[in-house]
Amino acid sequence: MAPRLGKDGVGGSKALWEAGGSLFGGRSRASIVGPRPYTPVHSSRPPQRPIVIRTLGDFLAYPGHRLTAHCPACQHSEPLDVRRLVDRYGGDTLPAELEPFLRCWLCDHKGGEILTAHIGLTPG
Ligand SMILES: [Zn+2]
Repeated sequence: MAPRLGKDGVGGSKALWEAGGSLFGGRSRASIVGPRPYTPVHSSRPPQRPIVIRTLGDFLAYPGHRLTAHCPACQHSEPLDVRRLVDRYGGDTLPAELEPFLRCWLCDHKGGEILTAHIGLTPG
């Protein structure tokens, strides 16, 4: 942003920027799609703040995490609506407690696994 202009110093640097932009702008975005590691830009904030996520209420409080129901019989998996689960079973319920009650709507298997997934902005 702004600080970079100060580094170049000269008034004519804007033309340079524009030339560079047209040079890379056309192709780079589309062609670099490979498995590059994602490096967060904001590295100044503290890396990890320990939060404990155990209950359904915790999952509701931290939307960066998601619950997915997995059927061991047919491998079907389905994201769970945490809010509805909290309404029905209460915020103190552990996800694992719900596993015996899961029923797969594809193969009608009773019982499943609940997987927790982090969908926040962390690499991997
Ligand atoms: Zn199934």
